[in-house]
Amino acid sequence: MSAAAAARTILTNLHEVMASRQHAQAKLDRVVDVIGESLNSEVCSIYLLREGMLELFATRGLNKAAVHVTRMAIGEGLVGTIAENIATLNLAEAASHPDFQYRPETGEEKFHSFAGVPIVYRERAVGVLCVQHGDPRRYEDVEIEALQTTAMVLSELIAHAELIDLEDVVEGTSFTGPAIIEGLTLVKGLASGVAVFHQPRVQITQVVAEDVEAERQRVYRAFDKMRDQIDNLANQSEFGVGGEHEEVLQTYKMFAYDEGWSRRINEAIDSGLTAEAAIERVQQRTRMRMREIDDPLLADRMHDLEDLSNRLLRIVSGQLGTAATQGLRSDTILIARNLGPAELLEYDRRRLKGVVLEEGSLTAHVVIVARAMGVPVLGRARGLRGVVREGDHILLEAEQGRALVRPEAVMIETFEARLAKSREKQALYAELRDVEPFTRDGTRIHVMMNAGLRDDMSTLKLVGADGVGLFRTEFQFLVSATLPQRERQLRLYRDVLDAAGDKPVVFRTVDIGGDKALPYLSPESGEGDENPAMGWRALRLALEREGLLKAQARALLEASAGRALQVMFPLVSEPWEFDAAKAVFDEQLAYLKRQKKILPKSIEYGAMLEVPALAEVLDQLLPRLSFISIGTNDLTQFLFAADRANPKLAERYDWIGLPILRFLKRVIVATAGYPVRVTVCGEMGGRRLEALALLGLGIRNLSITPVSVGAIKELVRKVDLEELTEAMNRWLASPPPDMRAAIRHWADERGIETD
Ligand code: PEP
Ligand code: MG
Repeated sequence: MSAAAAARTILTNLHEVMASRQHAQAKLDRVVDVIGESLNSEVCSIYLLREGMLELFATRGLNKAAVHVTRMAIGEGLVGTIAENIATLNLAEAASHPDFQYRPETGEEKFHSFAGVPIVYRERAVGVLCVQHGDPRRYEDVEIEALQTTAMVLSELIAHAELIDLEDVVEGTSFTGPAIIEGLTLVKGLASGVAVFHQPRVQITQVVAEDVEAERQRVYRAFDKMRDQIDNLANQSEFGVGGEHEEVLQTYKMFAYDEGWSRRINEAIDSGLTAEAAIERVQQRTRMRMREIDDPLLADRMHDLEDLSNRLLRIVSGQLGTAATQGLRSDTILIARNLGPAELLEYDRRRLKGVVLEEGSLTAHVVIVARAMGVPVLGRARGLRGVVREGDHILLEAEQGRALVRPEAVMIETFEARLAKSREKQALYAELRDVEPFTRDGTRIHVMMNAGLRDDMSTLKLVGADGVGLFRTEFQFLVSATLPQRERQLRLYRDVLDAAGDKPVVFRTVDIGGDKALPYLSPESGEGDENPAMGWRALRLALEREGLLKAQARALLEASAGRALQVMFPLVSEPWEFDAAKAVFDEQLAYLKRQKKILPKSIEYGAMLEVPALAEVLDQLLPRLSFISIGTNDLTQFLFAADRANPKLAERYDWIGLPILRFLKRVIVATAGYPVRVTVCGEMGGRRLEALALLGLGIRNLSITPVSVGAIKELVRKVDLEELTEAMNRWLASPPPDMRAAIRHWADERGIETD
């Protein structure tokens, strides 16, 4: 009999048992009979996890008195070993295995051969299914296959019948000990919570097929769809940069078209499983095999296959949503390979405590969004998904560049101490909330904050910022399923100004495109751009889709009726772009005037300096505007020709290395003599060491992420600006070998903390 046929016979019988209206225990008693009979095995037993021990729940062939009496610890005896290693054992002579333990109450001494398979639920062993026989013979492969398939069906039965405590399984620490994941600090902060995968596991509700042919067709269709998706990935920016991504894509393709994989799924369907169960069955088998191979390269590939297998499962089951849409827990630590900014914004920020990404880089927009949400992020956590499982307890210490998975008591204690210390610091910063930040030698530094959502505005008073120096209007577009119409924009801007009261707000017109792609703007939204960051985005897009900019201009002008309006344009590369954008506003203003509407009390226009070319024509541009804001995120990527979203380049160039500092100094010198305010609104201003460098260069206005406002105000009050400026001029003229180290040393000597 083939493996498929053997399994099918068992499954058909099992199906009846499961569909019957018996009590769970009665079902298990029937199940061992069905399996024992089908495999012609004298003994068939089921052990299930209860209170951390594997307990004999049902048996055919062993002493019935042993049921609910015999208990084994994980790792104890053959049964415990199977659970611990999540691996099958197939022995001709059980007693000769080094892990064998004799339990007299079972009466098992008359049986020689033994085969056992783990019952796995959510990648953890929740029980063991085993068969025993009087003759000393190994079980055949077909029999083992049948047992494994049966174990899988059982795992669903067990989970649904609540025979085991699922909370234990999900949150339990029984199978794998604590682990530390190292990564790159993307957003500082500490968080304790539970791992939730961005793309959750598919819930398999039906395991046994009613119509095998129909299941086969479902899987065929899903394969077609998945292959299409993988082919399309090649055109997406995420995979468009070559190198590592290219490799990943190739592997994906290889797996997606792998005939062995689809054949194994087909065989599993032949054995009577539904499409979902068949995919999961094959995946479980692969996982078991991989556990035996200790090769990190192969393990990486395994994650790719796992990813693909999950994708196939999602397609076939129609469960396409992310964790954001599925009743998020209140202490979520989100786990993902990577995320887009819009995907992150779908999450409820009150429930999201932290994010751990396998990829990610410091200035990627998703990280900026997380920073704005006040959510700590650890990035570049390699091998993440091989270590963390859904439901694991995680202590995220983003500051230390690590996450502790399934922490032990002592780790939790250290974490708590760290948390208390950080709270102390926050309390200290909170005291400065209403204090105006002056340097020691009396210069007022303006510390503004970056924002993008209505909710952010409550933070303004909380952190004591001087205003909003960058309001990223595109966030409204990113969180919206359709293009926000003028009325909706108007409402948002009005609310923002209301919330700001007499504090200034600088609205930046939409910066979409690049890594802030909008599905509803396709196909013109830069799709097909080989380098989206340098492509059709921001003002370039807005000037061409004039309707978009017109609507925004009207909304901003109307929202500011009777109040001050400050507008800035992103990614200005040449002065004419600024003129063209301003002309759109002028036209709308003229219209409102004709309509006799209340106009803004004052209007100031500014440009972002993000494209290096603009620095060469400042003499042309400065006479036309009120302020410039240096966007160091984009500026550095263009200066270094290093994609800000590319994780491989995340740590390559230093924000306070000589090229950037000299460039910024030149810009600041060029603005002297013009009545123009100069602000830095990139992420670097929110980091203490970097902020110190900016102050030394002559920057007096910063717009930073809200969580850093307190820390930067505190820093400002410790600085003697004259002394710092002099040191900076010295470093720029005769550069130290390591600029960062030099600034840090200077600060250390003065007792100024820079972390
Ligand atoms: C920048 O580029 O520095 C900036 C502030 O804009 P964004 O990060 O939104 O591109
Ligand atoms: Mg930018």
